[in-house]
Amino acid sequence: MTIAENLQHIQTKLPKTVTLVAVSKTKPVNDLKQAYEVGQRIFGENKIQEMAEKREEMPKDIQWHMIGHVQSNKVKYMAPFVSLIHGVDSLKLLQEINKQATKNNRIIDCLLQLHIAEEETKFGLDEQELNELISSSEFAAMQNIQILGLMGMATFTDNQKQVKKEFTHLKSIFDTLKAKNPVHCNLQTISMGMSGDYQLAIECGSTMVRIGSSIFGGR
Ligand SMILES: *Cc1c(COP(=O)(O)O)cnc(C)c1O
Repeated sequence: MTIAENLQHIQTKLPKTVTLVAVSKTKPVNDLKQAYEVGQRIFGENKIQEMAEKREEMPKDIQWHMIGHVQSNKVKYMAPFVSLIHGVDSLKLLQEINKQATKNNRIIDCLLQLHIAEEETKFGLDEQELNELISSSEFAAMQNIQILGLMGMATFTDNQKQVKKEFTHLKSIFDTLKAKNPVHCNLQTISMGMSGDYQLAIECGSTMVRIGSSIFGGR
């Protein structure tokens, strides 16, 4: 199947309330253009330099999402244009995003990444760290960031029960946080679900799926 066919196939399976981020990391600009031609406007990349380079070559009405782990010293390269940063998992990183957003005279939308998987290697905050961050005076002082929601990655396993448990956990953390109505937050987005598990993620309350290989093929 072509990229256009893959995209259209996935679109038919997504409820209207779920936003599709086409994860184009490692893929050539030509592949992104094929997705663009059939209407895709949100692309996800996991390396800042690669995202900035592709942006130069692509139409200007694209929303670029940073979905990977972000190094603080590289935030400045995406601060002028990034539309949503999914993987924010420390106060220090958020402070750097706020600083660079201020320099660019804009507010940068972010998701806080929660650690919901069993694997040790995946980045993210636990619920207590999330609450500490949100209620800190440093967080309150930031004026150029907005938290739109949470992001999480499930354990890489065939065990659907396990994955479902982790997605449900993220959804419940989101609901609890939303009920507190914290400062600098406009909570509406739960970014969870990839090629292998997005249908389950949607059943568990995802509002944004990040899909790469099912659109563009394996990497
Ligand atoms: C690569 C990546 C994806 C997409 O993974 P696929 O399995 O190819 O759909 C989603 N989220 C993050 C954070 C990624 O790094």
